[in-house]
Amino acid sequence: MLLLLAGSAHAQTSITVTRNEALVDFPQSVTFQLELVDASDVAEVNLVYEVDRSSCLEANTAVPVPLEGNQAEWTWEMVRSGNPPPGATLRWAWQITDNSGNVTTTDEQSHTFVDDRFDWQTVSAPNIRLHWYEGDEVGPMLLEAAVAGLDQLQNEMGITLDSEVQLFIYGESDDMREAVLYIQEWAGGVAFTDYNIILIGVPPRIAESWGVPTVRHELAHLVIGQFGRSCVGGSRPTWLEEGLATYAEGTPSERVLADIATGIEDNSFEPVRSLNGSFSAHGTEAGIAYSQSYSVVKFLLETYGQAQLQALIFTLAEGAGYDEALEAVYGFNVDGLEQAWRQSLNLPAREIPPTPTAVSAQAIPTIEPFGVPESVPTEPAAAGTAVPPTTTGNPAGGICNLTVFPLLLVGFGLVIRRRK
Ligand SMILES: [Zn+2]
Repeated sequence: MLLLLAGSAHAQTSITVTRNEALVDFPQSVTFQLELVDASDVAEVNLVYEVDRSSCLEANTAVPVPLEGNQAEWTWEMVRSGNPPPGATLRWAWQITDNSGNVTTTDEQSHTFVDDRFDWQTVSAPNIRLHWYEGDEVGPMLLEAAVAGLDQLQNEMGITLDSEVQLFIYGESDDMREAVLYIQEWAGGVAFTDYNIILIGVPPRIAESWGVPTVRHELAHLVIGQFGRSCVGGSRPTWLEEGLATYAEGTPSERVLADIATGIEDNSFEPVRSLNGSFSAHGTEAGIAYSQSYSVVKFLLETYGQAQLQALIFTLAEGAGYDEALEAVYGFNVDGLEQAWRQSLNLPAREIPPTPTAVSAQAIPTIEPFGVPESVPTEPAAAGTAVPPTTTGNPAGGICNLTVFPLLLVGFGLVIRRRK
């Protein structure tokens, strides 16, 4: 697990670096070490590091590190901050200030985190790299699912991926969870949206039945998260988020079709407005909410088309409230959407009490961002969210975890800047 990285021993001025290394013990810690030939003229040493990610926040951490003789050492304890996923790239440099105020910056070093407990194989397609280690057929099968999922997102929804995604397919959920500090013990998969990395535990025996739709579902969350990224606190209602992801699974499962048939037959659908926020996390109720959301999204797509759907996602990303965004794009609010959708299914209109939303909607604090089904920050520094790989005791129940996985870089001189 311990990896030694040799860095450059080159610097520009009279400061000469003889060692610049990072000792990586993934996912626990990274120890940065610097050694100079002569530190007698050095006033200050700072370590600057960051992990590549696309985010509204630029998290670039600068840590003042005391010199001991001609050496400096600092350890990033990921136990305290949460760890970036395997596949993420760490970059660092040292800034050395001499007594006259001249600053020497060492060449940037980088390291890509690897979960080296396993012998990973990799298959790739444009914009997708998929890594796996168990079951020869699993990698190609799931890559094919990912490609089909991306194609569908693009062709049927006009939603495209703008930078490469990596998927790490573990042979068991337990193996996956051990690579992520602070993950729920029942999580079957996790999407690190900011890093464009998805980890899923897929035992080979259920690769086809469960792995294929799950890869497409998780990938959709990630792609839609990129496409509709909001830097102003905008969010998407859960019915939209999960409806899109369920739609992206491909041909609807028998369970989804059965849920919809039952909802129509018994006139038992939930008010769509109640699906704005978190779904009940467990049990069949949640399953039905996914199926209903799928039906609503399918209605929007098939009735009004791609361009409107994209406009809705962008309007929400700009920070519009749910009703406001729907009004702007479709001319109805969530209740109006529900009536139109019900009509399309030949269901009677539901009696909807007037809601005083116009003024208050925006003032109400946002529901959980992006409608995360369960947002359970176990530590203030890291929050992963996932739903168990089963809603019915059967892995085919589907996991859902639109996960925003904030990595807080903890250090002395933590610098978080908002990108202009
Ligand atoms: Zn989901």
